[in-house]
Amino acid sequence: MYTTNLNVSLSESTTVTKTKPNRKTNQHQPEQRFCPSTSCFTDEISVQRISPQANVWVLTDPVEDQAWFTMGEAPTCPHCGAVLLAANPSR
Ligand SMILES: [Zn+2]
Repeated sequence: MYTTNLNVSLSESTTVTKTKPNRKTNQHQPEQRFCPSTSCFTDEISVQRISPQANVWVLTDPVEDQAWFTMGEAPTCPHCGAVLLAANPSR
């Protein structure tokens, strides 16, 4: 499980963003991901990296209206820990 309390880190990154008001269009858009585990009830989940420098992701479940933070090179499922896969078909 990767549910951690990273609210402090999130507010710190907000301060960094404030110093670059012209970079709004450069922000990362949330990605739709899904959990590949068949025994997991997570369906689609929205994933967004909170900072380009930190491997910290915020995961949002639009259906259940919940959010989690996860750390690592890739976002992982908040329920089973599996690496989330991109939901958008690239072709
Ligand atoms: Zn899962």
